[in-house]
Amino acid sequence: MNCIFCQIIAGEIPSKKVYEDETVYAFCDIKPMAPVHVLIVPKQHIASINEVTADNSAVIAHIYEVAAQLAKELGVAESGYRVVSNCGTDAGQTVFHLHFHLLGGTAMKTEMC
Ligand code: 5GP
Ligand code: ZN
Repeated sequence: MNCIFCQIIAGEIPSKKVYEDETVYAFCDIKPMAPVHVLIVPKQHIASINEVTADNSAVIAHIYEVAAQLAKELGVAESGYRVVSNCGTDAGQTVFHLHFHLLGGTAMKTEMC
């Protein structure tokens, strides 16, 4: 499949890995928007939130467990952080493999959009 995140998970494209287990892979965003900017992705190819169903949603809960763990390890759990998943054109999704941005290390704008 011609999916850049599937290729990153497979090790075909290099990435700065911060976490990996059986179902989840996390790596530094290539164009960080904050001092901490990690992408947390399911290893299974799910294009976006639009494709989340009862059959695959367990990985989403697990991604939030990983986000909480990584926030502690990366030193932003107490200062605060944001977990964002863009879905579709209006949200600015550019990679159609479901991913969660973990952003922190700076005070962010309070406006959501
Ligand atoms: P989206 O805009 O779809 O919510 O987020 C996609 C993110 O993937 C962007 O923040 C972009 O910088 C990041 N990205 C795109 N290609 C690569 C890549 O090859 N390596 C890494 N590490 N990040 C990437
Ligand atoms: Zn993919």
